[in-house]
Amino acid sequence: MQKFWDVHTHQKNNENSIYNVIAGKDAIPVSGYFSIGIHPWYYKESEENNLIEIVNKAANNPRCLAIGECGLDKLKGEDFQLQEKVFIRQIEVANNLNKPLIIHCVKYYPQLKKLIEQNNFSGPIVLHGFNQNLRIAKLFESNNYYFSLGKSLFNDNGNAQEILKKYYPQKIVFETDDTEILIDEIYLKASLILNVNKNEIVLEIQNNIKTIFAKNISEK
Ligand SMILES: [Zn+2]
Repeated sequence: MQKFWDVHTHQKNNENSIYNVIAGKDAIPVSGYFSIGIHPWYYKESEENNLIEIVNKAANNPRCLAIGECGLDKLKGEDFQLQEKVFIRQIEVANNLNKPLIIHCVKYYPQLKKLIEQNNFSGPIVLHGFNQNLRIAKLFESNNYYFSLGKSLFNDNGNAQEILKKYYPQKIVFETDDTEILIDEIYLKASLILNVNKNEIVLEIQNNIKTIFAKNISEK
């Protein structure tokens, strides 16, 4: 059966999507897969222990497929040292529970890579909303990194289309994030950009999903 996997959404909770729970802000969905993380926009140091506890507890749920979105943001949120501290704690959670990471990163990509390496994380890493140039993408060419593309595919002069063309199929997944766009439309757009049949894309992405989240996805 065709499954249009959506690896990162803030609203659409269906059987092929991973609903993102922002710790301390969103409730854990009663059904369906989810990820949970401390978002750098919604983090205060005084809440850190409490939020880590929320993440740890929820992450033990078998429906929790990943830790995140978490990461670093140069334009919004607390200063770098604080963001770094709470990000490292979430890498630890992901390491302990053997779950992938879903990353939010704005203008801190080299620092992000360094932190992931320093903290010995070797599981799969999804760079959500990736819309960087090929020079930055090159930093993440090793096997365990994936580029998650969404609304920026609709920008004909943007980076996302270049990323898709260069890294499809091995390193690509798709997302709707906080937009109203349907995930099927993202796959359709990708098929037009690549000039590849949509059904074939669905199968390739399904394979990537199995590689990234295998352990916790039940085959139906
Ligand atoms: Zn998001």
